[in-house]
Amino acid sequence: MDALIAHYPPEHKRAAVLWLLHLLQAHCGCLGNEQVEWVAAKLGLQPINVWELIRFYPMFSEAPRGRFHITVCRTLSCAQCGCGALVQALEKKLGAPLEAVTTDGLFTLAAVECLAACGSGPAMMINDLLFEHMTPEKACALVDEIRATGAIPSQALAPLRPAHALERRLLMANMSQPGYTGSLADYSAAGGYESLKKALALKPEVITAEVADSELRGRGGAGFPCGMKWRFLDRKSGKPVYLVCNGDESEPGTFKDRQLIYRDPHLLIEGILITCHAIGAKVAYVYLRGEFPDGAALLEREIEAARAQNLVGKNILGTDFECEIWLHRGAGAYICGEETGLIESLEGKRAYPRIKPPFPAVRGLFGCPTVVNNIETLCNVPLIVKHGAKWYHALGVPRSTGTRLISLSGSVKRPGVYEIESGKVTLWQLIHDIGGGTLHERPVKGVIPGGSSMPILPGGNLDIPIDFESIRQAGSSAGSGAVIVLEEGEDIVGHALNVAQFYAHESCGQCTPCREGTLWMEKLLHRMHAGGGRPEDVDLLQDVADNIDGQTICALGEAAAWPIKAFLKNFRGDFEKVCNTGGGAK
Ligand code: SF4
Repeated sequence: MDALIAHYPPEHKRAAVLWLLHLLQAHCGCLGNEQVEWVAAKLGLQPINVWELIRFYPMFSEAPRGRFHITVCRTLSCAQCGCGALVQALEKKLGAPLEAVTTDGLFTLAAVECLAACGSGPAMMINDLLFEHMTPEKACALVDEIRATGAIPSQALAPLRPAHALERRLLMANMSQPGYTGSLADYSAAGGYESLKKALALKPEVITAEVADSELRGRGGAGFPCGMKWRFLDRKSGKPVYLVCNGDESEPGTFKDRQLIYRDPHLLIEGILITCHAIGAKVAYVYLRGEFPDGAALLEREIEAARAQNLVGKNILGTDFECEIWLHRGAGAYICGEETGLIESLEGKRAYPRIKPPFPAVRGLFGCPTVVNNIETLCNVPLIVKHGAKWYHALGVPRSTGTRLISLSGSVKRPGVYEIESGKVTLWQLIHDIGGGTLHERPVKGVIPGGSSMPILPGGNLDIPIDFESIRQAGSSAGSGAVIVLEEGEDIVGHALNVAQFYAHESCGQCTPCREGTLWMEKLLHRMHAGGGRPEDVDLLQDVADNIDGQTICALGEAAAWPIKAFLKNFRGDFEKVCNTGGGAK
């Protein structure tokens, strides 16, 4: 704990609070007065400052849990492939309902929001380990095995799909090689850290200019130009500059950053080091979502391996460049993916998004100028330095340069992470050629092209190139590159309810339209889906969504309203049917 506290400036040691709570919960089983008072005294806080975190972050629990805590993802892609049946089978097997401890004290079961394994669902975790492609039979057999052995069998990540002819694997090039482990030795043998050597011989402004000229856009969702973000930094304040790597991959449908962390961590570490050199940061924090505990351990191990080779720390590679990279673990809460919510969380507070301006480039982490970049965005930086802005710019299409990692999930035969040149593959090709077509070979009903917060597009015309501009012109957004496919015959109202439940659960509660509106949308959809819909409910749902859109501090309001508005616009008949007939779609 003392070592973790030392990763933060002494006057901001409360930033370590989530770490301490994770450690205490793992040690004590749950968090109560004793733990809260201990942490508060350790970090110079009031107990209320700790309680408010325990009640904000879903991974913390005041109630005792079983020795083996099973969490099943209930979010859209996993719901499409049967997480409901998985939960029911586990409840029956354990003989205990959700959240209750089994009589032998061994298990608890919970349904949770997205685990970032949407392409290999239904997904669940047991303590720190992820289990993919689950079935009720496999899950029950696992319970038997754990009961018999007292241990959780080890798990490897489901293998990558082989590259398709329509792909252009650059970020995924190393990990696609047979036998590649992602170790420092493997990464170096593949030419890793050569870009860092090249970058350290260049002036920071030259690297920034290269990244700006490449027109690399952020891959987290907003698509903001990366070089412009770096140039916005307030360099005259005299305060330290920070880089924060946003690894809070929690937009339903998105599971590509997980692949980069687990399969090629040094690509990320090199991207962080070059970026720190370019922006003048001596410290970078990697904010990793709490649901990646083994990813955190892996990344920590590889950062240490890099440190042992003089790639992290002081006098890196014999130069005067110094840079520390520290890991910071989240504890659930989708809103931590919003950059100012993430910064608040990193500071040891509830992840309440800030009113902007000031933007993080002026007043970010600990009140200092800060760049927040997504994992995939940072992984592009070594490539740009290696090959130059011109080369990168020639990939893709204007305003969407380079490649994109696409997380493909839902009703498709070959879900997975694929890397395509931006704008060179259409949604139709992605689903039918790369993805093998729809799961039951029915026509595509709709496609969510950028994560569940983005408007769904109808399935009729899918000749839309996958790039920021083309998808925007089609009426949605490329967002985080998460493509969720829905085919004919699916429960549209049920899926809209699933999405609404997610955002109602994840609203931080600061703004009335978001806090109340998301709950009302969930209530209305629940009523419709349960068979109690009234004819006026469709317009009422539209009205509630309209009154959230554009009325909130952060974009979660739109993230909640847009998908519901698009479901209503494109599939109004499905909603009217359940409201007029009083029969919920099954
Ligand atoms: Fe919080 Fe929602 Fe307001 Fe964002 S829009 S600050 S999530 S209440």
